[in-house]
Amino acid sequence: MSKKAVVNALRQFCQRYHSPRTEAKMESAKKIYMRKKDGTLSDKKFTWAYKCAKCGEYFAKVHLHHDPPVGKEPDFPYDTEELLEYIRRLLAPKEGWKVLCIPCHNKEHING
Ligand SMILES: [Zn+2]
Repeated sequence: MSKKAVVNALRQFCQRYHSPRTEAKMESAKKIYMRKKDGTLSDKKFTWAYKCAKCGEYFAKVHLHHDPPVGKEPDFPYDTEELLEYIRRLLAPKEGWKVLCIPCHNKEHING
C-alpha cells in the first residue's frame, strides 16, 4: 500500500459521496439552457453552471474549497487521532464548503 493510499481513498470518498459537499455545490447551481439550431433557446436541453463565491461568475467546472481549510494531511504511519481529526475536517458540513472557479481556487492556495 502506498503512503498516500488512505488519504487518497478518503478524498475520493468525500468527492463522490459526501452529500453536504454536493448540497453546497447545488446551492450555487443554475440551469443554462442550450441554443437550438435556429438560435433560439431550448426549453428542454440545459447544462449546469455554478457560481463562484469569490468573483461571482458562473462556470461549468468549479472546485469545492474547504473553508476553514482541511489542513495538513496526516503522515504515514498514521496516528489514529490525527487521522480522525483529518476525516472530521475533510467531511465538513455544508457551511464548510465554498464553491470557487479554478482561477479563484488557485489564488486561495497561493495565499495560504
Ligand atoms: Zn472565481
